[in-house]
Amino acid sequence: MDYAHSYVIFAVNLRNEFMANPVDKYEAVIGLEIHTQLLTKTKAFSTDIAEYGAMPNTNVSVVNLGHPGTLPRHNKEAVNMALRVGLACGCDITSYCLYARKNYFYADLPKGYQITQDKTPLCTGGSVRIKKEDGSVKDVLLTRIHMEEDSGKSIHDMDLHNSLIDYNRAGTTLVEIVTEPVLRSGEEAGLFVSEVRKLVRYLDVCDGNMEEGSLRCDANISVRLKGATEFGTKVEVKNMNSISNVRKAIEFEVERQVEAVEKGEKLVQETRSFDAVKGITFSMRAKEVATDYRYFPEPDLPPLIVTDEWIDKVRANMPKLPEELYNEFTSDYGLSHYDASVLTENKEVAQYYLDILGHTANFKAAANYLMGPVKAYLNRNAIELSDFALKPRHIADLIRLVDDGTVSNAVAEQKLFGALIERPDETALSIAEEMNVIQNSDDDFLDGLITKALEAFPDKVEEYKNGKKGLLGLFMGEVMKQSGGKADPKLTSQKLRDKLEA
Ligand code: ADP
Ligand code: MG
Repeated sequence: MDYAHSYVIFAVNLRNEFMANPVDKYEAVIGLEIHTQLLTKTKAFSTDIAEYGAMPNTNVSVVNLGHPGTLPRHNKEAVNMALRVGLACGCDITSYCLYARKNYFYADLPKGYQITQDKTPLCTGGSVRIKKEDGSVKDVLLTRIHMEEDSGKSIHDMDLHNSLIDYNRAGTTLVEIVTEPVLRSGEEAGLFVSEVRKLVRYLDVCDGNMEEGSLRCDANISVRLKGATEFGTKVEVKNMNSISNVRKAIEFEVERQVEAVEKGEKLVQETRSFDAVKGITFSMRAKEVATDYRYFPEPDLPPLIVTDEWIDKVRANMPKLPEELYNEFTSDYGLSHYDASVLTENKEVAQYYLDILGHTANFKAAANYLMGPVKAYLNRNAIELSDFALKPRHIADLIRLVDDGTVSNAVAEQKLFGALIERPDETALSIAEEMNVIQNSDDDFLDGLITKALEAFPDKVEEYKNGKKGLLGLFMGEVMKQSGGKADPKLTSQKLRDKLEA
């Protein structure tokens, strides 16, 4: 290598050294723990009502307070729900589960321990597929899914001098979903939480409400140099009450850790909290380790035995999952990735879509209606699909009137749709007749309007003939206006072109 050449290489290296973003040298390693509160009628091990928003401390019995002589009991409905989650994620189901006591002292834990599953979680393995914005997919591997009871709720911001405690939540059932440390960015973590939330909602096991805390996510985060095989020191971040906060907290934390490592600081294993207002994480406490909890088998509960028959019964009653519907929508109905994603985002919407298809075979028009005028109407009026006046057959009727040429698409969407919402007991056709918007494809009527439109703009006709084809829209607009929306647009444009190009 000549002298000058090596000089250039030196300069390039020097530039890379100083200009490269230090974050690019590192890789984030993230594992999530998601707690979902099950929608069971009663609590995990007692007959107390499990209900959000009840008067504080009204659903608390001696079982949940751990009074001597009381005994917890298995809640079959809770196990059914947990099994649905496990089966939906393709987990292995453990046939013999022993519950464990996790001991710690906290004011909102009246028994002084939490019943959980330690060595024998109900489900192991499995995965949840996420679809990234660049179109790629990733199967996020799960370590385990286990059942446990929740603690009570401490409220620190209602009284100036005291912490308030509501024990209603103590003893309600949680299903905890734990991932392997396989997530690599805030984006991936956010997509995973959103996929899990969608799944538990489809399965009717959890309402997925992050603000009310019925779905809570803790993120374990560490960083390491790209290519390294060892994990770095992990930090656990709590208190992210929305998906966008999960993403923000992770992005902040990764950057903080990279900066610390770059400065040669040593990270400590700790639990941090996310401050959504400032967009930062701050230290709460040093991380507990498993031995702090003195786990031991729960002596008051018999083992939970899950037979193959039980699993088969739960499997037989599983609803269709979003992934399945997505595949059906894209392959059987030819919908795009975008349309199929939007329509399977929520079970009610997917079902409504399928119900429209019970009345029409125009798959694309049904999707367009649901994602266009219906969605806009629901948003504008802040209502849910279940409160919407139009039933799937109404939408199918509107689509049919357009398809058979009775009304134009614009009339159906802009006039009939709204009128039908006001009078859902009438038919779309009778309303169309009454509103006098039935499309007229009668030749004489249309020819007359076309002649008039062309006569009104003689110079534009000349320009069109000289090659300015875009003027067709002007003539179309004129004919449509004069017809009061009743001219058939397809026929009109055909006739106009014939006349102009004759
Ligand atoms: P702990 O016993 O501290 O709760 P676990 O081994 O049970 O830790 O893991 C809890 C979560 O942390 C899991 O989601 C796991 O994937 C994740 N995790 C473990 N080690 C790391 C690491 N070094 N960096 C990031 N996440 C990790
Ligand atoms: Mg843990």
